[in-house]
Amino acid sequence: MLDLFLDDSHRALARSAQGWVDRHIAPHAAAWEEAGAFPRALHAEAAAAGLVGTVYPEPLGGQGGDVFHGLVVAEALIRGGSVGTAMGLGSHAIALPPILALGSPAQQARFVPPVLRGEQVACLAITEPGAGSDVAGIRTRAVRDGDHYVVHGAKTFITSGLRADLVVLAVRTGGDPDDPARRHEGVSLLVVERGTPGFTTGRALQKMGWWASDTAELFFEDCRVPAGNLLGGEGAGFLGIMANFVSERLLLAASAVATARLALDDTRAWLAQRRAFLRPLDGFQVLRHRLAEMATAEAAARAHVATVAERHRRGEDVTVEVAMAKNHAVQACAFVCDQAVQLHGGMGYMRESRVERLFRDQRLYGIGGGTTEVMNEVIWRRGLSST
Ligand SMILES: Cc1cc2nc3c(=O)[nH]c(=O)nc-3n(C[C@H](O)[C@H](O)[C@H](O)COP(=O)(O)OP(=O)(O)OC[C@H]3O[C@@H](n4cnc5c(N)ncnc54)[C@H](O)[C@@H]3O)c2cc1C
Repeated sequence: MLDLFLDDSHRALARSAQGWVDRHIAPHAAAWEEAGAFPRALHAEAAAAGLVGTVYPEPLGGQGGDVFHGLVVAEALIRGGSVGTAMGLGSHAIALPPILALGSPAQQARFVPPVLRGEQVACLAITEPGAGSDVAGIRTRAVRDGDHYVVHGAKTFITSGLRADLVVLAVRTGGDPDDPARRHEGVSLLVVERGTPGFTTGRALQKMGWWASDTAELFFEDCRVPAGNLLGGEGAGFLGIMANFVSERLLLAASAVATARLALDDTRAWLAQRRAFLRPLDGFQVLRHRLAEMATAEAAARAHVATVAERHRRGEDVTVEVAMAKNHAVQACAFVCDQAVQLHGGMGYMRESRVERLFRDQRLYGIGGGTTEVMNEVIWRRGLSST
């Protein structure tokens, strides 16, 4: 992150996180990507190294840090060279905030600590085959029956869905996805535990990038979930989901900046050692200037994301600003990764080069956590429209 906003505790955490990632992730990143999975034990190892609980309250087993403690860890994880591992390891970062925002103290004490110890894996399941950007269009239904909700429906594209022990599940307890006046009503969040009868998972979905993370379909059929697992009451889910978006978008924006930085660093090193026409490639001014443009794009996005993070830390409403910063970081990262492949020549197209993977991995930043178009809609509606 931008050093301007960091204190000694952030810098110390960034150093220790990077050291851990260099030893425990970087040497294995390529193999885990090819295998399509990283070891489950890594969740507990990362937790023991202090990389899981950074921003969560101390009474629940976290370290009580601020947004920058979370972002420096996110950046270190990306520098491991496998965005899939970073995102799979970090699925708690989108699953736990709704429990903290809406859950009772008893629910928090039950669900959060095992995840922060890395003993359990949590995921957030909102997207359905028929509804992604349009959260109010979800159709997974939960009907109250005595002390339980009976859940029917399906989710898709869920990060860590195959290995998760806890699924924070968006369901419909009321409202009507087909009625414009009532479609935002009745969206609720239920915690579904692995092993609950009626809850099954599908195959691991094959993806363009993020290979080391599992991405799954989840199915619910006559799935009886204890009513005590409802977070914040019926109909509270929409607000819980929206409240999550600022931190999720900041994390993705910071990850995009970190991905750009890694691609830039790899390219700089490549241009210094690769020779053509009897010179190192960085002997060509046109390529040095390309590096300068990549570095400028990365630095501008980094400063933008860090500034919005700082305003978030101060308690400002940064809904619009974070949408702008995410789009900016996505664009910068796409430009840098594209140029990184170009400047590596044929090697940039080879699976053995890291920039090939980063080029594929970065494509999701403009889709996950709200697409570029959805960010533009937020910027228009909340920041520009006068109606
Ligand atoms: C690898 C991966 C991991 C994921 N992990 C998770 C997860 O853990 N949990 C989870 O719940 N989801 C997850 N998702 C889903 C992700 O959040 C959605 O894919 C994303 O929100 C877009 O939804 P969609 O795919 O339904 O696309 P759609 O909503 O169908 O969008 C299709 C296109 O239409 C555009 N569009 C849609 N609405 C508008 C509009 N109003 N104005 C202008 N353009 C619009 C979009 O921008 C996009 O370009 C993941 C997805 C992937 C690929």
